[in-house]
Amino acid sequence: MRRTKIIATVGPAVASAEGIDKLVAAGIDVARLNFSHGTHNTHRQFAEWVRAASDAHGRPVALLQDIQGPKLRVGTFPGGSITLAPDSVVSLVPDRIEGSAAIIPVDYEYLLDDIDDGHEILLDDGLIRLLVEAVETDSLRARVMLGGELSDHKGVAFPDSMLRVPAVTDKDRSDLEFGRELGVDFVAASFVRRADDIDEVRSLVVENTPIIAKIELASAYANLDEILATAQGAMVARGDLGVQMPLQKIPLVQADILERTNEAGVLSITATEMLDSMTSSPRPTRAEVTDVANAVMSGTDAVMLSGETAVGKYPARTVEYMDRICREVETAGVRVSVDFLESHRTFSSATAKAAVEAAVNLDLGTIAAFTESGATARLLSKYRPPASIIAFTAEPDTYRRMALYWGVTPQMQERRDSTDLMLAAAEKFLEKSGLCEVGEGLVMVAGTPPNIQASTNLMKLHIIGERNRAPLPRS
Ligand code: PEP
Repeated sequence: MRRTKIIATVGPAVASAEGIDKLVAAGIDVARLNFSHGTHNTHRQFAEWVRAASDAHGRPVALLQDIQGPKLRVGTFPGGSITLAPDSVVSLVPDRIEGSAAIIPVDYEYLLDDIDDGHEILLDDGLIRLLVEAVETDSLRARVMLGGELSDHKGVAFPDSMLRVPAVTDKDRSDLEFGRELGVDFVAASFVRRADDIDEVRSLVVENTPIIAKIELASAYANLDEILATAQGAMVARGDLGVQMPLQKIPLVQADILERTNEAGVLSITATEMLDSMTSSPRPTRAEVTDVANAVMSGTDAVMLSGETAVGKYPARTVEYMDRICREVETAGVRVSVDFLESHRTFSSATAKAAVEAAVNLDLGTIAAFTESGATARLLSKYRPPASIIAFTAEPDTYRRMALYWGVTPQMQERRDSTDLMLAAAEKFLEKSGLCEVGEGLVMVAGTPPNIQASTNLMKLHIIGERNRAPLPRS
């Protein structure tokens, strides 16, 4: 069993029932719908394929809606791209027109007001660099310092300029409304700067949908603690983060974000360029393999693929590689000690910690958790136990969301009227499915009374087959 979870962005490379089925067969736990691209119709189709493949494979695959946020982008070009030659001069305009070899449309209405001479402009995650030479009446004139090919809708950043952008754009509002209709399991909020931005996104999603804060602006990193106090997870969004700060800062910033996110007891995701060369090559580089391994060793809950699976030549093969790297690294154990009990002095956290310690001390391979909202499973997971966590729930939303929790195998279970009946049913399942053997000890963790979102307050040590079973109702 792999413990680190895999998120794959879906896109044209897997745009068929078969393409998605192959990704699920290769091991993805979460499909990311990137709302910077595609239409509502294409996202709906992807969601249907993902749900169908998940059913066919008998395991949950969650849907993560990644909203574009206030990211500024260039418009479109004839043939889909232009080439910017070094030292050439181009114009940038705030108009919704098709560009040309020398005119780049940008979707920012204050372009001519907020950008000044001498300001830098970064295109396509900083791969192309321009310097503003003059602000003219209807355009910015800029020199190409670092050239390259610029394709439709690539991102544009103005690191020297103070911009007037809302936390949630009109497009995000319409996309979030669509996400509600689709029933997405998570929402990733792009370009957030502070906790209020997360709360604004939360006000637009179905109640209880977990919000993942993408940490991609220097200001989000500066406000990480307040963001972690409200978001249900943080993504190290290295693409845009690498535009905001010098690249050499990324490794330490990544380690810091992962550590603080785990300490806060919320989900941590490492994203972007993890196996980038596999977009066009059947094998990753040594450096990429080491990058995935380092993220796993630093305690990330999940690793994410972007272009590799959305537009790459080898989507399923890339997932298979990622799966293999995670499994191999996990054999050595994950070198993190996450002790968030210090900051979470609650019944739930203390029960989860006691369960993990009991499993370690008694060398037990399984922790069975019973959960309504998934919180019990998440707390257990955050202690990174060597035991596997089988999380039973009667809630379909929780079942799918737990797909993203490190080390957790979600399992649907019918509601029972008492904790005893719940434990008996789980024992029967574990025995029948071969996950546990008769005579094997396990730790059970639940909240009582059952079937409500009670705090986790019960830990029970049990030997399979030795239960003085309460009779299960015949059905
Ligand atoms: C990133 O910037 O790393 C990221 C994950 O966001 P996006 O793919 O939307 O640019």
